Amino acid sequence: MTIKITRAKQLKNKPDNSQLRFGRDFTDHMFMMDYCEEKGWYDPKIVPYGAIPLDPSTCVLHYGQGVFEGLKAYHGKDGEVLLFRPDENVKRLNQSCERMCIPKLPEDMVMEAIKTLVNMESDWIPTKKGTSLYIRPFVIATDPFLGVHPAATYLFMIILSPVGAYYSTGINPVKIFVEDKYVRAVVGGTGTAKTMGNYAASMYAQQRAEEKGCLQVLWLDGVNRKYVEEVGAMNVFFKINGTVITPELSGSILNGITRKSVIDILKSKNIPIEVRKISIEEVINAAKNNQLEECFGAGTAAAISPVGELLYKDVTYSINNNKTGEISLMLYNYLTDLQFGVIEDKFGWSVKV
Ligand SMILES: *Cc1c(COP(=O)(O)O)cnc(C)c1O
Repeated sequence: MTIKITRAKQLKNKPDNSQLRFGRDFTDHMFMMDYCEEKGWYDPKIVPYGAIPLDPSTCVLHYGQGVFEGLKAYHGKDGEVLLFRPDENVKRLNQSCERMCIPKLPEDMVMEAIKTLVNMESDWIPTKKGTSLYIRPFVIATDPFLGVHPAATYLFMIILSPVGAYYSTGINPVKIFVEDKYVRAVVGGTGTAKTMGNYAASMYAQQRAEEKGCLQVLWLDGVNRKYVEEVGAMNVFFKINGTVITPELSGSILNGITRKSVIDILKSKNIPIEVRKISIEEVINAAKNNQLEECFGAGTAAAISPVGELLYKDVTYSINNNKTGEISLMLYNYLTDLQFGVIEDKFGWSVKV
């Protein structure tokens, strides 16, 4: 693939490494590639970062036919640029495309586009501990007419944003609202795809959680509000009586790459891990009996996010005295050490750009 490169005439001032906020600053360039039925995916290019003109009738603006991914580039300990399991993101992007009737992307092309853009913008990868360059690939339906129908034209883009350490004051447990009214996704719906509508649908509950002093929502299943699904945009794990438990992929849960990695790390360390349905009743009973030893979210943004309190039906349950648990901390350190190339990568997950 030949990527046509047009360089920005003026480079931006880079933000202060110690004051990075998620998704606020973007680098000098972005990647774009078009799709139409006659040509397939064509015209890959890197251009100066900036606004894109869209007709007001553009399909994605009305019907949400679009998908995205999220991964990070890390500044390794010897100055190398590292990605964490990017092949998994590229595969999942195509799975999301399939669910949303978007033509699949050539996976080697997407990988090359990510690497070329990250390389070009490597000066933007912050070096302060815990910081990274967030990579956001996405596809939108661009047909300029109204009508609920899969579009015939699409735009694939990649934008990059330097992000701070998720925990500015060290890893800290958060309070989570167990949502038993509104739902994120249902089996048969689009919960397994990283598609825009899922996030739009989640905002009302997120707002309710914040009003109740919680940082995120713990989602329950969409049919009975009985089984645990995810926490915010992270997969969720519980440690009950020495065993780590995470919900199985039910058909409405996003198949997280961090989740998958956590399961493999726990197995490699002979820590008991069960992948199965887990009801909120089981979690709350364990909390009441002092057997809920840990709870944490797992996702690219935070790596591991310990949960210190659950608010369920107006009762707050504290977990591990609202302190970060041993397994949560081990996983956080292990995952981030792998991502930053600090320890030997026996899984072969880290990819040099
Ligand atoms: C992206 C995402 C996750 C986490 O996936 P990772 O690949 O680990 O970053 C979990 N749940 C939802 C809803 C997500 O959008």
